Amino acid sequence: MPGGVKTDVRTYQMYINGDWVDSKSNKTFPVYDPAAEETIAQVPDSNADDVNRAVAAARAAFDDGAWPATTAQERGRILFRLADKIRQNAAMLAELEARNCGKPIVEAEFDINDTATCFEYYGGLATKVLGYVNPVPDNAMSLTLKEPIGVAGQIIPWNYPLLMAAWKLAPALAAGCTCILKPAEQTPLTALEMAKWFADVGLPPGVVNVITGFGETAGAPLVQHPDVNKIAFTGSAAVGKIIVKQAADTVKRVTLELGGKSPNIFFADADFEAAIDGALFGVFINQGEVCSAGSRILVQKPIYKKFVDAMTAKAAKIKLGAPLDRDTKMGPLVSKEQYDRVRSYQEVGKKEAKLAFGGGRAASFAKGYYVEPTIFYDVDNSARIAREEIFGPVATVIPFNDEKDAMKIANDSPYGLAAAVWTRDIFKAFRVVKALRAGIVWVNHMQPTYVEAPWGGYKQSGFGRELGPWGIEEYLETKQVHINLSEQPIGWY
Ligand code: NAP
Ligand code: MG
Repeated sequence: MPGGVKTDVRTYQMYINGDWVDSKSNKTFPVYDPAAEETIAQVPDSNADDVNRAVAAARAAFDDGAWPATTAQERGRILFRLADKIRQNAAMLAELEARNCGKPIVEAEFDINDTATCFEYYGGLATKVLGYVNPVPDNAMSLTLKEPIGVAGQIIPWNYPLLMAAWKLAPALAAGCTCILKPAEQTPLTALEMAKWFADVGLPPGVVNVITGFGETAGAPLVQHPDVNKIAFTGSAAVGKIIVKQAADTVKRVTLELGGKSPNIFFADADFEAAIDGALFGVFINQGEVCSAGSRILVQKPIYKKFVDAMTAKAAKIKLGAPLDRDTKMGPLVSKEQYDRVRSYQEVGKKEAKLAFGGGRAASFAKGYYVEPTIFYDVDNSARIAREEIFGPVATVIPFNDEKDAMKIANDSPYGLAAAVWTRDIFKAFRVVKALRAGIVWVNHMQPTYVEAPWGGYKQSGFGRELGPWGIEEYLETKQVHINLSEQPIGWY
């Protein structure tokens, strides 16, 4: 079936070994539009049988196939061609992403541009993977070679579907690995659309396989499969912990990009207007469904009251709307499950703290998983809403006295993905940067992420780094080669 779409009711197939296939069980499951609360597609519901088929294809493409034997230049060119396809089809991809996730179309357009940029970056980096000559003593040459790890299983979440696919596929392919990608059950569509171009851009069969299915039935067999060399996972800390345990039996390489409860810290000397903007953007972008959401807003006491008032006034103006409207700043949450989760935390928050704004369903929508942007204040850092990742538009505002107090509160979290600090004092900013236990610290900003710079967490936010040269390193093994240059026998015995 061309492109894997069987009829105009949009029943997709999945992409294994260069073919569009159904699941072996022939079962499918629905994919939704969370604004309309309608089914927009059916996708194959795969299980261990399908995973076995995909792993066999990726294994063959790695062990016998052309992929690891391609030159880095060729792999780079293929990634550039894939980026071109994404750019040529950006409008279609952005619209599908917005419809399927509920995210505002303007944000989806940024995501698709970032997706193409990620493939371009790793297309360029493919030819910059360098080995070393190690300065060993004796008449010998010691070399370090970098080689692809092999078959990579890649499991991703639903908040930035195609971008997360690119963060996984681009470095793996540049390194010479073959891949099995499992998108989130909620949002597999853009990855399947992208797979339509794989053969055209020159990816041999089996090099990238996209399987759709649920975590327990499709993800788990991939993690446990003995022929998979590495699992790259982005998702919740709860599932990340299961993955580490499941991967242990086959001693797989594992990288984890997990959740967060990131502090966004405002000192009294910060530029006030920029600070209010930064607080709202940090926590409400993408409906708050962001791993690095600045969901703990720490505000120094002299500006605390004014800050909560100003945030509240500005939050009231955030335009909630249909994902495809260009002036929408916040769409519905991705699913009923996520809506119920966020709604329940809104209720928990009402018992734990004071409500400044929101706190419920966005009442003006007859349909769709819309919730109000919500601001709680006078939150104690020990409250559940300050400790647990909500993954929705719920801000917790926490007052602090001084720098020491702020650092204590900020670091008092099981997570350590991201943090931000707002101040005009460069000395204070740098002290705080060093004191914070987080994989990224923004100063006078929050959220910009670049493919050139590393991304990943401290503590229970995960391990390993994506993006930049760090990202490709996670798909490479290091081999030492020792070449004896002496013609004399060892002469020991
Ligand atoms: P999730 O429930 O942990 O799921 C993530 C992926 O894992 C999905 O594809 C899921 O499949 C799969 N999965 C679930 N159980 C599994 C199992 N037992 N074995 C193997 N795979 C399994 O997370 P989510 O709700 O999709 O995404 C939200 C989370 O992702 C948040 O915690 C967020 O912080 C995190 N995140 C982190 C980053 C980062 O860079 N650090 C970026 C984005 C998101 P199903 O779809 O079937 O559940
Ligand atoms: Mg899930």
